[in-house]
Amino acid sequence: AAMVKETIRVYARVKPLRRRQQAGSYSVDDEEPLPSLEITVPRDLADGFINNKREIYKFKFQKIFDQEAKQDVLFDSIAKPVAECVLAGYNGTIFAYGQTGSGKTFTITGGAERYSDRGIIPRTLSYIFDQLQKDSSKVYTTHVSYLEIYNECGYDLLDPRHEAARMEDLPKVTIMEDSDQNIHLKNLSLQQATTEEEALNLLFLGDTNRMIAETPMNQASSRSHCIFTIHISSKEPGSATIRRSKLHLVDLAGSERVAKTGIGGHLLTEAKYINLSLHYLEQVIIALAEKNRSHIPYRNSMMTSVLRDSLGGNCMTTMIATLAMDKRNIDESISTCRFAQRVALIKNEAVLNEEIDPRLMIVQLKNEIQDLKDELALVTGKQRTSELSQEELLQLDELVETFLKDNDPDSSLDVGPDMRKIKYCFFHMKQIMNCPVTADKKQDISEQKNSNKEAGEELEKLKGLLQQRDNEINILVAMLKQEKKKAQDALLQLNATSAGSKVLEQSPSMSLEESQSPPRCSSQKEAKGFSSSVPRLPLLSRETGGKMSLGCQEAFEVFKRDHADSITIEDNKHLLKQRFDEAKCLGEKLNEARNKINHLKRKIVQRQIQRAALAVSNPSEEQMFDPVEDNLRIQMEEEKKSYKTVYSHFKGLKVEIEHLQLLMEKVKIKLLKDFEVWWSEEAKKFQQEKPEMVTSPNTGTVSPQFTRSSQHLSTNSSSDTTRDSPYEDPAVKNNLITFNNPTLKTRTPPSSSTSVPLTGDSQADADILAFIKARQNILQKIGKSCQ
Ligand code: ADP
Ligand code: MG
Repeated sequence: AAMVKETIRVYARVKPLRRRQQAGSYSVDDEEPLPSLEITVPRDLADGFINNKREIYKFKFQKIFDQEAKQDVLFDSIAKPVAECVLAGYNGTIFAYGQTGSGKTFTITGGAERYSDRGIIPRTLSYIFDQLQKDSSKVYTTHVSYLEIYNECGYDLLDPRHEAARMEDLPKVTIMEDSDQNIHLKNLSLQQATTEEEALNLLFLGDTNRMIAETPMNQASSRSHCIFTIHISSKEPGSATIRRSKLHLVDLAGSERVAKTGIGGHLLTEAKYINLSLHYLEQVIIALAEKNRSHIPYRNSMMTSVLRDSLGGNCMTTMIATLAMDKRNIDESISTCRFAQRVALIKNEAVLNEEIDPRLMIVQLKNEIQDLKDELALVTGKQRTSELSQEELLQLDELVETFLKDNDPDSSLDVGPDMRKIKYCFFHMKQIMNCPVTADKKQDISEQKNSNKEAGEELEKLKGLLQQRDNEINILVAMLKQEKKKAQDALLQLNATSAGSKVLEQSPSMSLEESQSPPRCSSQKEAKGFSSSVPRLPLLSRETGGKMSLGCQEAFEVFKRDHADSITIEDNKHLLKQRFDEAKCLGEKLNEARNKINHLKRKIVQRQIQRAALAVSNPSEEQMFDPVEDNLRIQMEEEKKSYKTVYSHFKGLKVEIEHLQLLMEKVKIKLLKDFEVWWSEEAKKFQQEKPEMVTSPNTGTVSPQFTRSSQHLSTNSSSDTTRDSPYEDPAVKNNLITFNNPTLKTRTPPSSSTSVPLTGDSQADADILAFIKARQNILQKIGKSCQ
């Protein structure tokens, strides 16, 4: 099979600076053959943390994408070549590595706001489905899977139930190793995706599940690895050879490190990963870079096990080092670059993944047998039944006996080209050899006596030979059984795969027609819509039985107004409306063009009929060429061409609309989730102030989140670094303003709440109190934003 040897390609991408961030000093030099990134460490840093005499660091990359590089450019130069290899039957991997906040998710999945910000995954899906559609020489099947690895546990993000409130609710994925040391992921669903739209829906389903399962406690987005995999199999019609390839698109955990204890005299390389599995990844990479190293410690972590082929194995692998080049992150960026330089040394050997489909093989062999039978019948002139008749058997007995008695050395036994007859003759001869008396009754007894001794020896010899043959047969039968079992296993596996690939039932339908209804304006309806149309939010539904209380809804309205994400939603709504109008316009154009084409067609047919009639009535004037018809044809071709152009534009627009809708859905869910966290924290805070009054079992479940966020507040130093937490999002930071409010930190209960008439029902009381408290905060917030 074809094989491609290649080192891992390593690219760098520098994230744009934010406002108020101090730029680190670096430069990009387009040297030959590879560009280099030069980082200068400022004195103050060099004297302290990086206690190293060097101040200028230089790193080589395949290509360096500086701050202004856009997503489409990255896709074209990084992902497209890999996607092409995957379409040809090779495995591919693209992984993003870098500290939290450096742009891994932005690069792999994309930004949450603009269509043009979509990342490598949606662009690759789009490209792959386009290519598949163009290639009619093969039959393609595509599946996707989405795995999240957190704390050495795997989770299936494509769980369609939408019920996971916590990561632990997602189906657990485990690693299994077969006897050939191949890795299999048990419980990871492979969902079939036949169109770009279906695949995109699955991507968003996974991202939503990921978002919902994240809590401030687990910080999943920075501490987990996410692997989105596109599985492609292809086959030429009629061929039994299947090509199977996988494309892993990997968003790794944040690579941030902590320095070893003890200040001074420590090199950066001694800094320890916060994420243990990245430590194991580094060990694998160090081992791979060493010459003559036979043992590579893939098994130390789930992530390195899953990505084993991508690292030094059968895969075309690409790494993107994401860098945040502001001053405070220079040290982490240098670590990232160092890691990248090691990765660039790793050689992979990608082979064409071809295999024989056992089902098709059986069909093929059956056909071949039938063909051969037919051919045989043709040659012998006889149609065969499987068994010889009694008459034929007797005839053969006689032939064999005559042959045995014949003393002529030239005599031969001719039964014709029929394996069954030949076999039977041997069988009969064996019978005669074993029981010469009965078989050879007519033979002279004295003659028999003479040859008895001789025959005895011969018999022993033959018996030995027979024993030998029996052994051989036994061995062959055992081998055959093994082969058969293998084939069956493969079949089973195949069946299992196709059984597991149910198309999602709950994936939102995105056809243009359906989504054309105008966006709902009534805010109350919208709030309800969140809990019905959108995947149900578990936290909410558990606390309120699936519905928001009125007070909660009201709070949500205010929260929404204040939340930066709603601006995004509004922006996108406008954009969506624009796109709809454009699509409508294009749709009309398409209709027009179609009508024109049909009209021209009719005209051509009319013309042909006229000419045919003319030819009948006036045969001598028959014309071979009709300029009028030709003209009509040219016109029609032109119309068709413009139809195609408009259509492809229309199609692109449709994809964009679908993408925007999914983005909006995601932002809405995030908004609701943020609200929930905020709401329960407010409630919780109130309970902490008045613990003797309210005991609610429900709000107790969120206490760890609260603890976590208050810790975050007290050490709120990272606000302008990119080492982010879930509160990195500026919108969420806005919410924190209320928490930071010093008046709220003093834990005296508001006097008004003590005079509230309580119902005695602890649940209802908790709701009322939480509501009042939340209301006060909202009022404060509103007051603040009005100042
Ligand atoms: P990571 O996944 O590495 O933690 P993110 O991709 O979430 O980092 O990026 C952090 C923030 O920076 C996000 O708000 C993201 O939109 C923004 N960002 C990252 N890279 C870029 C870029 N190249 N252009 C614009 N914004 C970016
Ligand atoms: Mg991320």
